[in-house]
Amino acid sequence: MAMKLHEYQAKQVFADAGIPTPASQLASDVDGAVAAAEEIGYPVAIKAQVQVGGRGKAGGIKLVDDEEEAREAADEILGMDLKGYHVGSVLVEEAVDFTNELYVGITMDRGEGKPVAMVSTKGGVDIEQVAEDDPDAIAREHIDPAFGMHPYQARKAVYDAGVDQAIARDVSSVLTTLYQLWDDRDGADAEINPLMVTADDEVIAADAVMNIDEDALFRQPELAEMEAEAASTGDELEQKADEYGFDYVRLDGNVGIIGNGAGLVMTTLDLVDHYGGEPANFLDVGGGAKAERIANALDMVFSDDNVDSVVFNIFGGITRGDEVAKGINEALEQFDEIPKPVVVRLAGTNWEEGMEILNEDLVTVEQTLESAVQRAVEYAGEVNDQ
Ligand code: GDP
Ligand code: MN
Repeated sequence: MAMKLHEYQAKQVFADAGIPTPASQLASDVDGAVAAAEEIGYPVAIKAQVQVGGRGKAGGIKLVDDEEEAREAADEILGMDLKGYHVGSVLVEEAVDFTNELYVGITMDRGEGKPVAMVSTKGGVDIEQVAEDDPDAIAREHIDPAFGMHPYQARKAVYDAGVDQAIARDVSSVLTTLYQLWDDRDGADAEINPLMVTADDEVIAADAVMNIDEDALFRQPELAEMEAEAASTGDELEQKADEYGFDYVRLDGNVGIIGNGAGLVMTTLDLVDHYGGEPANFLDVGGGAKAERIANALDMVFSDDNVDSVVFNIFGGITRGDEVAKGINEALEQFDEIPKPVVVRLAGTNWEEGMEILNEDLVTVEQTLESAVQRAVEYAGEVNDQ
């Protein structure tokens, strides 16, 4: 598997290697974003940090000229759902006044079994689309990993792509550096799209992608640290989970899952998948699931915009089923309206008492784990059909 760095992390790696990047600062709240913009100076680009491309088109990138616009843009982008990803932080970046957008990238050509360097003057847009519509617009140069990229190979790719003479040297040098990074860092892809060209013939990496082979992370402690950060940075829910002391992992789906015990939660996840649903999270409330913990867990899944339904899978052990049921009732009674349908399945100590206590005006009670999961998947599907 390959893991993807955030743009700001990939840019850091590129900048450290000497590739020109715009001045930028990471922010995870609106005030922080505005402060960063003031420090950098307007205009700035405010860019959602999610590990997915096409953010521009999806509304995750805004250019702003003053404080008011910066505040508005940061407020809009932070917390938004971008192609199924929650935006927990933005990169505030000096806007580049560009005349052209290029593409440069290194990837593994599986057919040839060799890395390939690619250059195109059709940067700034979806490069896969360019490859499909106009394959000749991308110059390619295969590299023998035993020898690395020769300078003439970089120059040839840049020349073949039809890059302007005035910047050819700088683009070649960026490409060479990118290959070295790719090689040193066990890169699966390293890509700059766009590599912006300014009116005075400077080139600057306005976007940065770096995918790393997960199996190589043990050789790359610095990148491994970045990965851990990428998984948690700015994600309010993950911070909340830390505060509550829950084991929590955010996933891409829309069925919220709450359980006690890692094995039980994993089983629930697998079943959601089995019944055609997509888990929104892994949430283990741990032992001793008292009312307050239940309420905190509900708070977590309810505040995840991606969640459309919730399934509780609780096994009564130390905490008895009737206590859990009371906790669920108490937590849900606080709402005038339950934000998302909740399905509960109890097992273990005092589960029958628990089932009787549960207020069926607030939750759907199911006897088996299978039926509970099926019900939750159905609810989530109904929301999506609307
Ligand atoms: P992506 O959509 O996720 O690939 O994000 P990019 O960082 O590649 O940005 C997409 C597009 O937004 C770029 O091709 C530019 O047209 C525009 N953009 C991004 N940063 C800047 C900037 O600093 N200045 C200007 N003028 N446009 C920018
Ligand atoms: Mn891009």
